[in-house]
Amino acid sequence: MNSNSKLNRVLIVGGTHGNEFTGSYLIKKFQQYPELIRRTNFETLTLLANPRAFKEVRRYINRDLNHCFSRLDLQDTTISGYEDLRAKEIDQIFGPNSQNPIDFIFDLHSTTTNMGLTLIVDDYDFFSLQLAADLSYLNPDIKVYTFGYSYPSQNLLPLRSICKSSICVEVGAVAQGILNAEIFLKTEALVYAILDYLEKYNRGEIPSKQNTLTLYKYTEAVYFPRNEHGEIQAMIHPQLEFKDYLPLHPNDPILLTLDGQTITYKGDSIVYPTFINEAAYYEKGIAMCLTQKHQITI
Ligand SMILES: [Zn+2]
Repeated sequence: MNSNSKLNRVLIVGGTHGNEFTGSYLIKKFQQYPELIRRTNFETLTLLANPRAFKEVRRYINRDLNHCFSRLDLQDTTISGYEDLRAKEIDQIFGPNSQNPIDFIFDLHSTTTNMGLTLIVDDYDFFSLQLAADLSYLNPDIKVYTFGYSYPSQNLLPLRSICKSSICVEVGAVAQGILNAEIFLKTEALVYAILDYLEKYNRGEIPSKQNTLTLYKYTEAVYFPRNEHGEIQAMIHPQLEFKDYLPLHPNDPILLTLDGQTITYKGDSIVYPTFINEAAYYEKGIAMCLTQKHQITI
């Protein structure tokens, strides 16, 4: 998005993962009380992305919906899982080739990890970086995270990639399949802060002077060790549990094996772990994601 183009249509998404109730129920609330998300100078739309998974309180039915949005997959007529078809439907309604493409998406997720209020942005999306810089300046509890180009890979693109500019809101800690009022209210407040920001942007009151940002950049995933049957053989070390975004030094404990051995971090510089003990990552065997902390200028 260039700096003088106005936003016409904004899409708030929830329930991309069916067992993340915060976003799903916020969408239900906004659909019931649309005046809450109405702003003066753009249209706000809502989407409960994976209604079947939401009903069944599962992350997905056949495949992670948030991996189904590469152009290759969207044009592939041979794939027909529930999420593949749902992705095509969402792309037809809101995507770049639809009648009224969306100008900005924010997708509401929750996490079982202690990541607090996290905004996930693409590090090449200048508009979202500026938004994240301004919001995290106003609320220092907000952390800004990017997977960069390394993850997810270019053929597993997320829902929000149907739009040039987007942000993913990730709030925790909350268990899957439940509502937690504190997390709900925090996420709701963040939704209104983003909408207010977009309204100001359309009035020409942005960009602000906030041109630096602390960005946590994903570098690698740490996997649980497994036995020959593929079963995991360790847990998050109790000293690391819930320590998302705190510095991890070389030789600090990260995992505790089932037979009581401590596994330490073998890197040679300080890193900042995130998604520590994310329930959704057990199926992939991921224990945590490591990031590097950067101070960037926008
Ligand atoms: Zn999610």
